[in-house]
Parts: sequence; C-alpha cells; structure tokens
Amino acid sequence: MTAAPTTSKRPRVLIVEDDMMSRTLLMSALKKEGYEFAVARNGQEAIDLYSQEFFPIIITDWLMPEMDGLELCRLIRSMKIDRYIYIIVLTGQNSKTDLVKGLEAGADEYMVKPIHQAELRVRLKGACRILELETSLKKNMAEIREISIRDRLTGIFNRVYMDHHLSQEIIRSSRYHHSLSVLMCDLDHFKVINDTYGHLAGDDVLRACVDHISASFRQGVDWLARYGGEEFVVVLPETDLTGALHVAERMRVRIASTPVNFAGCEIEITASFGSVTVIPNFNGQVRYMEQVLNVADTCLYQAKNSGRNRIVSAEM
Ligand SMILES: [Mg+2]
Repeated sequence: MTAAPTTSKRPRVLIVEDDMMSRTLLMSALKKEGYEFAVARNGQEAIDLYSQEFFPIIITDWLMPEMDGLELCRLIRSMKIDRYIYIIVLTGQNSKTDLVKGLEAGADEYMVKPIHQAELRVRLKGACRILELETSLKKNMAEIREISIRDRLTGIFNRVYMDHHLSQEIIRSSRYHHSLSVLMCDLDHFKVINDTYGHLAGDDVLRACVDHISASFRQGVDWLARYGGEEFVVVLPETDLTGALHVAERMRVRIASTPVNFAGCEIEITASFGSVTVIPNFNGQVRYMEQVLNVADTCLYQAKNSGRNRIVSAEM
C-alpha cells in the first residue's frame, strides 16, 4: 500500500535555476513528490528570498548568471544561520571533477540533469533524514541544557545558572544605573526537621518554601535559585532597599504562617533572610557577584544570630 504524498510536514524547497525548461521540469517533479517550493532564477535571487523566508532545502543549478550555484553554496555556508540548509547541486555533466568541486563548495548532494524522478525522490528523502536528525538533536540539546540549569528536587534554577546570570544582572544594573537587590534565604533549624521527621519531610519543606518564595515575587522578572542545601538566593532586578524589604517580609510571613503538612503532622517552619541592595556607582566601584553574596551572607548570619525568623539588610 502506498500512502498519498503529504505536503504538511515536508520541508519547503527553494529551486534555483536560470533555464526555464529545466525549472519547469523540476517544479513538476517536486509537485509529484508532494513538496512545496519557491523559485529563484540565480544565486542572488535565492539569497534575496532567504531574507524573507527560510528554506531547509535548496536545489540549485550550477551555471547561472549573476551568482552561480557554487558561489551560492559557499555564501550560504559562510552565513551564520542556526539551522541546517541541505543543498543539492545540479549539473549538466557527470564528471568526478565537478562532483568534488560541488561538494567542496558546501553542497550535500549532486545530481546530473535531466532530473530523474526516482533519484530526486531518494535524494530528497536523504535530505529529510538529515533535517529530522538535526531537529531531534536540537530538541535533545535543549532538554539537556534545561536539566543542567535546574535543581532536581525543587525544579528552580541551580547554582550553575545563578553563577552566570547573577553576574549578568549585576553588570546590567551598573550599566543602566538601576538598583538590584539579592536576598539570601535560609530555613531555620532545618537539620532538626530532617532528624525529627526524616528526609522526605525535609524535601517537602524545601518545596513548600520554594512555593512561598515564588508566590511572593514578580513572575518573569524576579528569579530564584537553590544556593545550597536549605539555602536559596532570590534576585530582584530594579529593586531598591525598601522594595527588597517588602518582598522579603512577604516571604518571611508566608513561610512562618503556613505549616507544612507531612504524613498527618503539621511542621512549623521559619526562615531567616539576608538582603543586600546594590546601588549603582556607589563610590564609583565595580561590584562582583562574590562581594554581593558575601554581604548577603553576613546579613543572613546576623539574622540567624539575633534570633532567626527575621531579615537583616545592607546596601553596597
Ligand atoms: Mg544554468
């Protein structure tokens, strides 16, 4: 049983051919195989079309006025495009020297005119396989990247992400003269929770804490990372000291007033906060992430030492 050709999932083809007769033949051959296409009459026209639309497959003649097929290949390969373009070069002669020249210029395949319907079909199938492989590799890479920046237990960003992005936020705040605040949040007596109720309860408490923190800040602007075991870093761009204290207080109250239910037990939790606000051009100094985190850490230490369940803040 043969399935009717479907056009929906097939990649769009760009035909580049100066000769009207072979252009017409190629168009009808592609139609038979169920591919949609656009047409250019030389390399330059093909490049112009690319500024309007992306074509995953090019079938290009070799000899053409203005810009020939090999020049087109070289130009396409030199362009910074993040998607692969599969190029088939057509020629009138079956010569090994031409084949080598075409492949050297960056073509993936080579076909001798006149077009042979079955050959075109299998060449295009080969092109589709490569393009599908590219799509699946990209998908996998995106998934791996996402996993590599997330904390497995809570799903929030991990330290790898924080190290990179917090440095960027600090640079941005100084460049555009905007305040930036960073909160360091640490659960109080977390070890006691683990020792009393077990590690699964500890995990639930961490997740609940993340929920309370996330629910207390601006979505899509502020962000949160797991810094250590029971320690979180919250980044509040364009936020001054007063704003940071408001947010931290909201988090503190929310955490302290919502016990975590675990196996029928109500586990009371509290958290301490160290808050630091980076003021742009404070004494004309450049601030580094390590310094910012150090100040937040010192504030957190003071919050812990002065009785926990509280916020200590500083500016720098
Ligand atoms: Mg020609």
